[in-house]
Amino acid sequence: MVVVMRAGATQEQVEGVIGTVHKLGFQAHPIYGVNLTVIAVVGDGTHAHLETFELLDGVDHVTPIDKPYKLAARRPEVSGTTQIRVGDALFGGEKLVIIAGPCAVESEDSLQEVARGVRAAGAAMLRGGAYKPRTSPYTFQGMREAGLALLKMASQRTGLPFVTEVMDTRTVELVARYADMLQIGARNMQNFPLLSEVGAIGRPVLLKRGLSSTIEDLLMAAEYIMSTGNADIVLCERGIRTFETATRNTLDLSAVPVLKRYTHLPVIVDPSHGTGHSWIVPAMAKAAVACGADGLMIEVHQAPEMAASDGPQSLTIGEFSTLMQQLDPVAGAIGRRIL
Ligand code: PEP
Ligand code: MN
Repeated sequence: MVVVMRAGATQEQVEGVIGTVHKLGFQAHPIYGVNLTVIAVVGDGTHAHLETFELLDGVDHVTPIDKPYKLAARRPEVSGTTQIRVGDALFGGEKLVIIAGPCAVESEDSLQEVARGVRAAGAAMLRGGAYKPRTSPYTFQGMREAGLALLKMASQRTGLPFVTEVMDTRTVELVARYADMLQIGARNMQNFPLLSEVGAIGRPVLLKRGLSSTIEDLLMAAEYIMSTGNADIVLCERGIRTFETATRNTLDLSAVPVLKRYTHLPVIVDPSHGTGHSWIVPAMAKAAVACGADGLMIEVHQAPEMAASDGPQSLTIGEFSTLMQQLDPVAGAIGRRIL
């Protein structure tokens, strides 16, 4: 980091800062300019002391140079995306991973129908919520463990691995007994005890961007999980809150190339929660593929008008199938594939 001294800072103040730098075990490299003095602070772990330096006498401000996330950061000597395997699905390869399924698990029959339909259309993973984070406590909260059992059954019958959300540290072990991949939802992206718990359980994690989170917040959340020793993380852009009301959220597709620049982790896009309207989903899914996403998560329901949650943003099985056909040439145009 660089400590910038105030104009007119005294030599005593500069020496005070240098003394603190040494006391913390770092090296100090002062540069005496005509108007300002700056002190480069070099060493491992300077980030943790940013506020200490800001408070020292004569300091104007402190600028960090490197990123606060280390494990999630792209290493300059390694290009490409880290590949993460979940069953037969491989994130970060030439073939994009399309995850599809209902917002919530509702019944054995409906889940079977959707699972079979999306597999026939070319999806590589099944999704479905058993524990649902609903804004209202009066709406459908999910089938809980019974839903996990139905997901497992559908997964075994179709051969598709599945991802499902875990909302609470108390159910991490239970959900991990069933699921191939654990989803941390947008509302829990900064639930730090939950991040540590899913890290420790050692199952691949799908980490969704928080509703009001910056890209750096998302990467710091990934860092939390990675710091527990679990490196199998896939990031998901799912839209953020803005002043716009035409869509449920504003799908920030620029997050895809930005994340690709700063992290080696695979990045997928959820155009269903990102837009809230099924008629927008195909256009944004194509745009997500075109801008370099490693996969998509799409809500599909056998009868969206009857869905217990998120019907308006769910594609029918037929619509999903058509979309998969349309996505393939888009992926082909950038050297990747869907089918
Ligand atoms: C979901 O994928 O089921 C979900 C609730 O999404 P989000 O956390 O992005 O709102
Ligand atoms: Mn949903």
